[in-house]
Amino acid sequence: MEKFDLVIKGGRVWTPGGIVEADIAVYQGKIAALGRSSAFPESLGLIDAKGKVIIPGLIDTHTHHREPGFTHKEDLTTATQAAAAGGVTLSVGMPNVDPPTTTVERYRNVIEISKKKALVDFNHNPSGTNLEEIAKLAQAGCLAFKIFMVRDTGRDYPHMPGIGLHNHGALFRCFEEVAKTGLPLMVHPHDQDLMDVIEQRYWQRGDRSPQAYGKAYRDFDGIIWDTAIATIIRFQKATGVKLHILHMSTPGGLEMVRRAKDEGRPVTSEVNPWALFLASWENVEKLGPYCLGFWVPDEHAEALWQGIKDGTIDVVGTDHAPHTKEEKDVGWKDMWQSPGGEPQIQDYLKLFLTAVNEGKTTLDRVVRLTSYNPARIFGVYPRKGVIQVGSDADLTIVDMKREETISNETTYTRVGWTPYHGRKVKGAPVYTIVRGKVVMQDGKVIGKPGDGEFITPVKG
Ligand SMILES: [Zn+2]
Repeated sequence: MEKFDLVIKGGRVWTPGGIVEADIAVYQGKIAALGRSSAFPESLGLIDAKGKVIIPGLIDTHTHHREPGFTHKEDLTTATQAAAAGGVTLSVGMPNVDPPTTTVERYRNVIEISKKKALVDFNHNPSGTNLEEIAKLAQAGCLAFKIFMVRDTGRDYPHMPGIGLHNHGALFRCFEEVAKTGLPLMVHPHDQDLMDVIEQRYWQRGDRSPQAYGKAYRDFDGIIWDTAIATIIRFQKATGVKLHILHMSTPGGLEMVRRAKDEGRPVTSEVNPWALFLASWENVEKLGPYCLGFWVPDEHAEALWQGIKDGTIDVVGTDHAPHTKEEKDVGWKDMWQSPGGEPQIQDYLKLFLTAVNEGKTTLDRVVRLTSYNPARIFGVYPRKGVIQVGSDADLTIVDMKREETISNETTYTRVGWTPYHGRKVKGAPVYTIVRGKVVMQDGKVIGKPGDGEFITPVKG
């Protein structure tokens, strides 16, 4: 090597052992050296990171890229532009596209589209509903499988037929087959039979408002979540599968995950930014369909922060789930006709950094939740998720002092809105670097479709 490709100088660098002052040298997409740049050979590019912190690029294992099938909302370019703007260097898609990703052929098709269109590194979580496809999908390079326990009522989107399993026998068979692959099984916990009874009560009263929808999913302190979590944790014990529980939001669910972890079982859990920063009752009233999904009462949100602190929650997945305003506006009258979810991926790091500045959590915890832990759980560590010699040069440079107001005007998602419009934040990513290439600088995305690479599990 004659010259390094890039040197990032003068910043503070997150490592699992703590934050250190170090310069970072990049060569051919990898981290080539860490230390004093005065000892480095010359470099072609230089970034001055004085006053900034360099963290491993964010890994989002839960992005609804919407392609193929729903490109009026988002596609693999706009989704990964939003990812790059948000500090994300690896974005993993979800199977509720059209056609849903239930076979290896469909999975390969999504990967081929992603190769052409993604700006950041990528993979895709296929559905595990077709037992005979599971081994083939693992062979093809997926990082995990995704199961919804939801069957939509009154609509067939975003949880379309073919990707949901709420029958216990079928679900159990899926657990058995995924266990054989050694890959994690991500489950959206939901008790559909119970939900059928609960929501009927609201409908019989003629109440289909966003408030009713929020309350129905939270009735009896979130019973529809807790009974599902109890079931899948029991299935985990029987099958040994690596279980990753999505959308944590109830104190009861946290308790069950805590117990399973205490027993040393491979149970991990995910929280979404909406549960911590968006889904308060105040916002259910004010933003209606634009903040649902799910209402999370303040005391449940507090339990989630506690779960973050004590390690019950391992991962932040964005659940970036864009829908158009037209699709959302239907929900003011009938929330059961309007799809749940919002754009998240561009804003979540800013919200977490703001929480760090407010003393609600620590930068170390945020890095673990958004990069280090997902890299380890989903099998891409130490290629990703850490800044060390030999790892991919996936780097997000953050300015903890930068103050911004989040705005619809600067969103990259195709739908052109963010539920955080008007929110003041302190702390923001200022560079996103994917394998040594700058894809975002000062909030402007400069990466190109095709810059992203297909990332499969690290061998061994
Ligand atoms: Zn989701």
